[in-house]
Amino acid sequence: MGLTAGIVGLPNVGKSTLFNAITKAGAESANYPFCTIDPNVGVVEVPDHRLNKLTELVQPKKTVPTTFEFTDIAGIVKGASKGEGLGNKFLSHIRQVDAICHVVRCFADSDITHVAGKVDPIADIETINLELILADLETVDKRIGRVEKMAKSKDKNAMAEYEVLVKLKETFEANKPARTIEFTDEQMKIVKGLHLLTIKPVLYVANVGEEDVADPSANPFVQQVREFAQQDNAEVIVVCAKIEAEIAELDDEEKAMFLQELGIEESGLDQLIRAAYNLLGLATYFTAGVQEVRAWTFRKGMKAPECAGIIHSDFERGFIRAETVSYDDLVSAGSMAAAREAGKVRLEGKDYEVQDGDIIHFRFNV
Ligand code: GDP
Repeated sequence: MGLTAGIVGLPNVGKSTLFNAITKAGAESANYPFCTIDPNVGVVEVPDHRLNKLTELVQPKKTVPTTFEFTDIAGIVKGASKGEGLGNKFLSHIRQVDAICHVVRCFADSDITHVAGKVDPIADIETINLELILADLETVDKRIGRVEKMAKSKDKNAMAEYEVLVKLKETFEANKPARTIEFTDEQMKIVKGLHLLTIKPVLYVANVGEEDVADPSANPFVQQVREFAQQDNAEVIVVCAKIEAEIAELDDEEKAMFLQELGIEESGLDQLIRAAYNLLGLATYFTAGVQEVRAWTFRKGMKAPECAGIIHSDFERGFIRAETVSYDDLVSAGSMAAAREAGKVRLEGKDYEVQDGDIIHFRFNV
């Protein structure tokens, strides 16, 4: 799908540790021979219990999960918007990702230096957010300089844009990100054209110590991050990056045992993958045949031909129809043949909006 979430955070909060876990847990490359091998990109499989169930039902030769990409965005420090640290380069990397996973340190380990001298997740979040807001403010100020005159001379488009720009400027000056503003669809088009950093959806990743994994709510820093995120309309995922790096070395069976020992149901990384996937409005459909059961990522709202095109452009070009059954219907019928008999397999045309969990057989002719 080409959508990616960037991992950001202050130095020493556990970004590299988390990114290592991601690359180690990485998708089996045999399945994805054409994936780019950018060292800053980690490709992970999207965990999905439905795929296991479908494999049980269909008994295919091969099962292929869908994948998701994380991008590691190296160090930001105070003053990035002024070009300090990796400064501008850092900001331009954020510009290229579709969502932000903001890692904050919630573990108190006195051996590990904190850049600001003490563990204070909210101050950390605000440090980075402020740099992004300042960079956006600069963008908006420049643009205001260009359209103000035209707006004053009653040019309609310029007036609409000017209104949006002023609203953004006020928001930034109040220290708030652009994503907290509600825009109309028309206004959103203008906003998109500005390529702002603070419009991107955000997920806070609270990195806790090993001792907090089983009961993260007992960690007061996690509570603070949760409260902050609520105002920011963002989700919080708790991980222990150090443990995730260990889990990433294990096979599925060992992993299940280790998680049980830790007293958690799902690894933090799996939760993070799922949350980032949702944050980007992504969903999954399946193809299920004896050769291969496979999960495919699409963007919610996509129609059947476009979804067919994800498999191969010929499927889209020669699209005839999509034979579709929902996951629940297939599972309760017990087999594809039984689902067909029960009339649960629908013939969908080119206007069908594909739903998360659909199992589809595309008919096409080129
Ligand atoms: P980065 O600068 O944000 O990439 O941070 P690193 O991933 O290099 O981590 C900084 C230090 O914190 C390293 O010594 C890590 O081993 C340590 N660290 C990272 N995550 C955890 C954690 O969950 N618990 C503890 N105790 N240490 C951690």
